[in-house]
Amino acid sequence: MHAIEHDREKLEQAAGRLSRSERTIVSTGSGISRESGIPTFRGEDGLWQNHRPEELASREGFLSNPGLVWRWYRERLGTARAKQPNPGHRAIARLEPLIPNFLLITQNIDNLHRRAGSKEIVELHGNIERYRCFEYSHPAEEDPQWGDEPPRCHCGSIIRPDVVWFGEPLPEAEIECAFRESARCDTFLVVGTSGMVQPAALLPQVARNAGALLIEVNETPSEITPIVDIFLQGKAGETLPPLVDRIEELVSRG
Ligand code: NAD
Repeated sequence: MHAIEHDREKLEQAAGRLSRSERTIVSTGSGISRESGIPTFRGEDGLWQNHRPEELASREGFLSNPGLVWRWYRERLGTARAKQPNPGHRAIARLEPLIPNFLLITQNIDNLHRRAGSKEIVELHGNIERYRCFEYSHPAEEDPQWGDEPPRCHCGSIIRPDVVWFGEPLPEAEIECAFRESARCDTFLVVGTSGMVQPAALLPQVARNAGALLIEVNETPSEITPIVDIFLQGKAGETLPPLVDRIEELVSRG
């Protein structure tokens, strides 16, 4: 069989399954935002002023150089706000009302899924639009002033982005919900994640152990690919729209 026919057949299989799914999870990583122009961490554009993300996105990194980390987030927020959701984000938003019991679990902090119209979202790693007190975690009420150094909280501590850094635990309610729902779904679609960041990378395994069918969309094989049932190789923004078009057709036929 030719590669193109093979790909078409896999897309058809995935669409058929998703159109009949009773409980679906879509789980996304930074790959889905790549086509909006937001760099992934592990791609070639993943460095910032010669610093690795692991150095900047950590408590230690923030404590040793708060200004540097603050300026990195200022730039990332500016980038996220200036970019638009792409056809991949929009296809996921279109999928949500088509099938019952849909949940999106994202590792992304860029807010693009919400801006694309997705509603049921678990944000595992926080959101770059939110800020909180470094010491006591109370939420910062307004947009902080984006100077070169983090502003002070009213308690005297400093303000930090409300995102999960390397080495930090994930927010309890979100991770609890993600594991519970992954263990209950019948179809799990994972998009644009390398599968190297835990515990998010465990979710497809949890779904599989519970008997779900796994579908993956990624430009290149990932750590998750060996356990998926259907691997759709390609860019999210090119693969998801025809997939969701086909699901729409199948659902409307009943
Ligand atoms: P990663 O950088 O480890 O992996 C990105 C994955 O996306 C790779 O497997 C790559 O092959 C794939 N990919 C790249 N372009 C793609 C495309 N157009 N279509 C489909 N797949 C594509 O990212 P990760 O697994 O999400 O883990 C990194 C961590 O970094 C996460 O915790 C996340 O919170 C954080 N992060 C978030 C953002 C964001 O909010 N947009 C950006 C960078 C990093």
